Amino acid sequence: MITVEKNQSMYTESVQNYVSQVFETVKNRNPNESEFHQAVKEVFDSLIPVLVKNPQYISQAILERIVEPERVISFRVPWVDNQGNVRVNRGFRVQYSSAIGPYKGGLRFHPSVNASIIKFLGFEQIFKNSLTGQPIGGGKGGADFDPKGKSDGEIMRFCQSFMIELSKYIGPDTDVPAGDIGVGSKEIGFLFGQYKKMRGSLAGVLTGKGLGYGGSLARKEATGYGTVYFVEEMLKDNNLSFEGSTVVVSGSGNVSIYAIEKAMKLGAKVVACSDSNGYIYDKNGLNLEAVKRIKEVEKKRISTYVTDHPEAIYSENCNGIWTVPCDIALPCATQNEIDQKSAELLVSNGVKAIGEGANMPSTLEAVETFLENNILFAPSKAANAGGVSVSALEMAQNSARLYWTFEEVDSKLHAIMKSIYQNSKKAAQEYNAPGNLVVGANIAGFIKVADAMIEQGVI
Ligand code: GLU
Repeated sequence: MITVEKNQSMYTESVQNYVSQVFETVKNRNPNESEFHQAVKEVFDSLIPVLVKNPQYISQAILERIVEPERVISFRVPWVDNQGNVRVNRGFRVQYSSAIGPYKGGLRFHPSVNASIIKFLGFEQIFKNSLTGQPIGGGKGGADFDPKGKSDGEIMRFCQSFMIELSKYIGPDTDVPAGDIGVGSKEIGFLFGQYKKMRGSLAGVLTGKGLGYGGSLARKEATGYGTVYFVEEMLKDNNLSFEGSTVVVSGSGNVSIYAIEKAMKLGAKVVACSDSNGYIYDKNGLNLEAVKRIKEVEKKRISTYVTDHPEAIYSENCNGIWTVPCDIALPCATQNEIDQKSAELLVSNGVKAIGEGANMPSTLEAVETFLENNILFAPSKAANAGGVSVSALEMAQNSARLYWTFEEVDSKLHAIMKSIYQNSKKAAQEYNAPGNLVVGANIAGFIKVADAMIEQGVI
């Protein structure tokens, strides 16, 4: 018996060494890509017990293969601004994995976009999309273009130039981009118009489209609602609920606004939200209609909220939002917005649950802090999968040439989020990490893709 256990622990150690070696190779082959390394490390650390139990994943070099994108496309995006200056941005599409379906994932337009950001997002997307249970592979793209402060004409010309190149690589059955930070329905409209002009009217080539030309009801709400549905399941399982709780939601984009809306519907008091300049705090609860008006209609900074709401306080420094005491925190702004210090503050202020609406909003140290302190933690690749899930439902509607009602889409979304929660919870239990949804989501997402890769041979 002792020998068996000893052999087992020696084998586990050798698997750990193997995983560390593969990770070192990833770092050496992709230097200066810290966000990408971070995303890979989190997944790899979760997979050790899976590899111990399933040696075929090692012999088939699944880790070595899955970290290498099937294709990375980087291209020049020239356009002319309103002053007649020629401007140049860099565009990307990373077609990461088509093991379980066409590449699927958003486009991000933000000055911080580079290869590391797009690869971390694309890598996460593989497992997220697998978790949705829909037949979609992983991809991501974008450009270091900043839509902020640009006129509609400039945004349109940029999108047209971007699509002239991107159109060569996408299609309804191969790669279906959508929105992400900086890409909303306006940008999707311009991108779709250009694609249609060049290749014909193929509705299924992009998701997040306007409702008048192939878009799905509830797509706009899907990521935020989905995050709250996921967190609701996690809370329920632990005899907690949104009802009567105090909630902080970072960001004030699409994800945040609809997370706030759903949390409020479930009886929560949402006391703070933010943009990249700063955050607003109202101890009696925010007025969502005012936030929507400022961000969706007037397109102004969140600081203007206090003009009509003197009872609220505006503070510079968006990450200061994590100093606000709350029961539930929903980071819905961007990657690495919660570092260890912010995580410690949240914990000492009594937070009970974290639900990640943004992609990878907590650093590895922050996640560690939450887990060590037994804070309920809903990781992004599970908790924010609602957006891409409804994108897959949009693809299904486009193929069938029909539309579902808001209620139909919303109830499918709700069912998907519940099942992602259950599958992540089950995988965590099965691999000896009960309650650890980081491990559970990574494992549940990985196994499906890894098995599909093995069944399809070395490709
Ligand atoms: N950008 C979103 C995400 O991070 C949605 C992607 C999609 O709808 O394809 O999952």
